[in-house]
Amino acid sequence: MKTVAILGSTGSVGLQTLDVLKNYSDSYKIVALAARGSVDVLADQACRFRPEVVALADPQAARSLQEKLPKGIKLLAGDSSLVDVARSADIVINAVVGFAGLPITLAVLQAGKRLGLANKESLIAAGPVVRRAWSTPGAEIIPIDSEHSAVQQCLLSGRSHDQVSSIVLTASGGPFLGWSSERLQNVTVENALAHPTWQMGPKITVDSSTLMNKGLEVIEAHELFDVDYDRIEVVVHRQSVVHSMVTFCDGAVIAQLSMPDMRLCISYALACPDRLDTPFGAIDWTQPRHLDFEPPDRTVFPCLDLAYEAGRAGETAPAWLNAANEVAVQAFLDGRIAWVEIAPILAQTLAQWPGDKAVDLECVLAADVQARQAAIRMVEQR
Ligand code: MG
Repeated sequence: MKTVAILGSTGSVGLQTLDVLKNYSDSYKIVALAARGSVDVLADQACRFRPEVVALADPQAARSLQEKLPKGIKLLAGDSSLVDVARSADIVINAVVGFAGLPITLAVLQAGKRLGLANKESLIAAGPVVRRAWSTPGAEIIPIDSEHSAVQQCLLSGRSHDQVSSIVLTASGGPFLGWSSERLQNVTVENALAHPTWQMGPKITVDSSTLMNKGLEVIEAHELFDVDYDRIEVVVHRQSVVHSMVTFCDGAVIAQLSMPDMRLCISYALACPDRLDTPFGAIDWTQPRHLDFEPPDRTVFPCLDLAYEAGRAGETAPAWLNAANEVAVQAFLDGRIAWVEIAPILAQTLAQWPGDKAVDLECVLAADVQARQAAIRMVEQR
């Protein structure tokens, strides 16, 4: 019996994790559930799954949760409570949104546990710091991101790292694939949130529309698999059936396919190297199916190359880009800037990166704060 903690249990990945786990109460015991402030959803989850502990980052929300909790479940409150919960299980699913997921990632790795990582920001913003924590005996990262889960599975085809010639990340292209620069001038929030193949939270859906999600995934792939940026390719594949590929030195390309369903990645993160016996995203081969691939239009979607630029610069540059992106995306969602202004704001903010090293968590946090301030100034100037 393995114990599982789900941080961000009320969000999209959290809900799907519970959906995967509901049939496996013999093999997995949910010991902790945590969220930012969704009182009713968390109360409902606590009643259904009976964890030992629940935590809410928002202390006020925690007070209203108290009376709705079944007896015997411990309630923790505040940001640090999520970090405490993160050390409590064999497997921790980090599905917290944004930079707030970083202390959780570090706590899980330092405790030598398995981290099911749906919070890509922590790896992107703090690569060098996460790498050190990851060297703790027993610590492992299993990505809960369809592309990286695919790459991890494809890598099993080779004997060693030097047999990998390139990683090929697939991108759905988002809702604006094929749109001209002119048409993109008047994009609405509603347009950007209409993702063609994946149901996700608003932040990542907007990232997907700018291809910044793919850009951040390039950095994520570099950090996870220790492959040079020159050997990470991006290809647009609008059906989202091929989740990514690995090209080996003999020319063989190994791909992982399924219909888009995050529960498959979640199930793999829980069980690997084993596999759970509930199929998710099974492909119906009795139907005709056309898969196409095309290179991304880097002039219309400049965010992709900004991510390569920040990734290659290393140290705190990815943290800068990530923070600026969170600010810019929020400004777009709030109606303060246009969609086409996201990329220029990121480029201008990245240009102000002072070149600070990512020595420890404090350096990364400082870079994050500085970058946010810089990005907020850029937004206000618009
Ligand atoms: Mg992804």
